[in-house]
Amino acid sequence: MTRVYNFSAGPAVLPQEVLQQAAEEMLDWHGSGMSVMEMSHRGKEFISIYEAAERDLRELLAVPANYRILFLQGGGIGENAIVPMNLVGRKSQPATADFVHTGSWSGKSIKEAKKYCNVNVAASSETEKFAFIPPRETWKLSKDAAYVHICTNETIDGVEFQYTPEVGDVPLVADMSSHILSRVVDVSKYGVIFGGAQKNIGPAGLTIAIVRDDLIGHALSICPSAFDWKLVAENQSMYNTPPTYGIYIAGLVFQWLKRQGGVPAMEQRNIAKAALLYDYLDSTGFYSNRIAKDCRSRMNVPFYLKDESLNEAFLAGAKERNLLQLKGHKSVGGMRASIYNAMPIEGVQALVDYLKDFEKKHG
Ligand SMILES: *Cc1c(COP(=O)(O)O)cnc(C)c1O
Repeated sequence: MTRVYNFSAGPAVLPQEVLQQAAEEMLDWHGSGMSVMEMSHRGKEFISIYEAAERDLRELLAVPANYRILFLQGGGIGENAIVPMNLVGRKSQPATADFVHTGSWSGKSIKEAKKYCNVNVAASSETEKFAFIPPRETWKLSKDAAYVHICTNETIDGVEFQYTPEVGDVPLVADMSSHILSRVVDVSKYGVIFGGAQKNIGPAGLTIAIVRDDLIGHALSICPSAFDWKLVAENQSMYNTPPTYGIYIAGLVFQWLKRQGGVPAMEQRNIAKAALLYDYLDSTGFYSNRIAKDCRSRMNVPFYLKDESLNEAFLAGAKERNLLQLKGHKSVGGMRASIYNAMPIEGVQALVDYLKDFEKKHG
């Protein structure tokens, strides 16, 4: 068996230890004689898995007691509709929500929210090809917004907030799909944090929302019951059948993260991994990353070969070394290395070694 270094943006690499444990427990979870996939979500076995996952995530992110952790389906894109449907009802209609447009994912959020409320784009870096995050002092927030939406890590464009912006009393909503648990965040500064699991947490199909209590209970009447945070919270994420196997794998990832030293230790590793790659890209004219240095993502590193006619040869040579999924998103071209929590520094080193060798051969 050969395990590759998988730089996919998502679904993405998972810790090998977690996959091994899942394999060992596949047919018989803890003497139950069943796979987790076969269990009732209301049985005591699965409830214990769910409660441990919730507890461990709360501990890892230091989620305050006045926040609910919801395990949902629908993905990050689903949340683009679910968030406005749950939040704009707190205001007289039609309500306005503020957005900061920093890349493809916040762009998708803006488009979807327009179905449910007025959208004010408070700041945008679109004309500069999303090469930076508009500084907070340039944002034109509206007077009485229902919420302010940001995407704290733009998976495609490769920009990441390195701080939490102050937005006063207005709830700050963050799409953290692609960097949740990769760095320390102060959850109390946010009204809502959401993310699909398939980047940094577990398998696709699980979505996590962390919601402050006072923002629950205001869903529009058109909101599907399965996505009304009040019903979901009152039923411990079991108003409908939650993605049970995804929750189980996420729980194993949370335990793995705790063994690694938790989020602060993970953040230090991610800083080191990102520095290794960016420092090399910056040291040569053969490759380039176009993002302002203080906005670069530690998780998703887009880069370009100066001679783009070498792209196919680059990808083919990478594949020979078991360095996979390095092709950039089709909307931006070039290359992209996603180096999530589960990517070991050895994988980033192998990529840098390859970058050097390829440059030697073709530079
Ligand atoms: C991947 C991703 C999404 C989309 O998630 P889906 O599960 O495909 O709906 C949303 N936002 C960000 C930042 C992402 O990286």
